Amino acid sequence: MADEQALDEVVEFTSGLIRIDTTNRGGGDCRERPAAEYAAERLAGAGLEPLLLERTPGRTNVVARIAGTDPSAHALLVHGHLDVVPAEAADWSVHPFSGEIRDGVVWGRGAVDMKNMDAMILAVVRSWARQGIRPRRDIVIAFTADEEDSAEDGSGFLAGRHPELFEGCTEAIGESGAFTFHDGDGREIYPIAAGERGTGWLKLTARGRAGHGSKVNKENAVTRLAAAVTRIGEHEWPLRLTPTVRAALTELAALYGFEPDFRNVDGLLEKLGPAAKLVESTVRNSANPTMLDAGYKVNVIPGEAAAFVDGRFLPGGEEEFVATLDRLTGPDVDWEFHHRSVALQAPVDSPTFAGMRAAVEEFAPGGHVVPYCMTGGTDAKQFSLLGIDAAYGFAPLKLPEGFDYQAMFHGVDERVPVEALHFGVRVLDRFLRTA
Ligand SMILES: [Zn+2]
Repeated sequence: MADEQALDEVVEFTSGLIRIDTTNRGGGDCRERPAAEYAAERLAGAGLEPLLLERTPGRTNVVARIAGTDPSAHALLVHGHLDVVPAEAADWSVHPFSGEIRDGVVWGRGAVDMKNMDAMILAVVRSWARQGIRPRRDIVIAFTADEEDSAEDGSGFLAGRHPELFEGCTEAIGESGAFTFHDGDGREIYPIAAGERGTGWLKLTARGRAGHGSKVNKENAVTRLAAAVTRIGEHEWPLRLTPTVRAALTELAALYGFEPDFRNVDGLLEKLGPAAKLVESTVRNSANPTMLDAGYKVNVIPGEAAAFVDGRFLPGGEEEFVATLDRLTGPDVDWEFHHRSVALQAPVDSPTFAGMRAAVEEFAPGGHVVPYCMTGGTDAKQFSLLGIDAAYGFAPLKLPEGFDYQAMFHGVDERVPVEALHFGVRVLDRFLRTA
């Protein structure tokens, strides 16, 4: 059991980490080092030997290993990122880097994404040190830089340059899972992520014949680009149920007391009401046009025009994604991956998933755990390159009704209740000790 001091420390550390501004503006504009040192000091205080690792000065990662009692067991990776997205102080009710605790709530950038989880990990391992507890499996803790941009200074660097630190790891837990989803009808659902869609950010380039805007031009690059962008934006991607999403639909249907009819997924989603939100973005691939770049003067037809598309593909769905984009862009428009990362699929019938479920159910009686697939991605994608492809989103928080967790991510007035942090520590402790 997590002790009283752990409950105090998780609040202190969440607030303390928020006060260290680790804003990641992209393009290398971020400095995680002070937060990494803060975390490393606290790990050292628990008798661990954390390593500080950098590819670029100031972009610091922390890795530490706790030796388990069963040397034959596979190791578990527990990871959390140290950077946060920017926050505009003028828009906030409290200063986003104050870490202020007001009326039982910790405020600030990173309160849910994800300095809360970083603090929980620290609080749990320190309480183990005080109580002489050792987990069954080796646990590798990684606090990463650069998750909110390219991950090149963070998990990408760790996976590429320091694979030895992750020796024996076969599974991972990280952000986005085991939070309370209120369905508005009294049910509390705890979705645990067991999959991530892959990322396919695309650059489209249309080529044509440059010329005067007053002349006939059947090879107008802007027109060609616009047509391709429209085809992509209006494309109806076919339904594809991955094992995780199928399991999610099955469990949700059971919760609502009906038999799932997989021949009519749209009807099934409708019957789920608000809970459909947990699955509706992951029953198909998607591609949303987001940026346009063409021309420089109203009476000049440019020879080239470009657009960017935010594409996401399901586990197993990349080939179809590529073939579909080839078809939709057509012969006059080229496309390439501006950024690509893998999709992930983790088993939901594993002992690890059962352990997470049991830990949540112990401290949230009446709560319903369901698996789900993340619409986007996390550092787990990079760690999967080490063979750690069973990655789960498990950063437990018990949240009151009306608390819009999803809106907190990268949102204004990001905050987390103290009670939610206490729940997180208890559940994480329970799961990690017995995992
Ligand atoms: Zn995050």
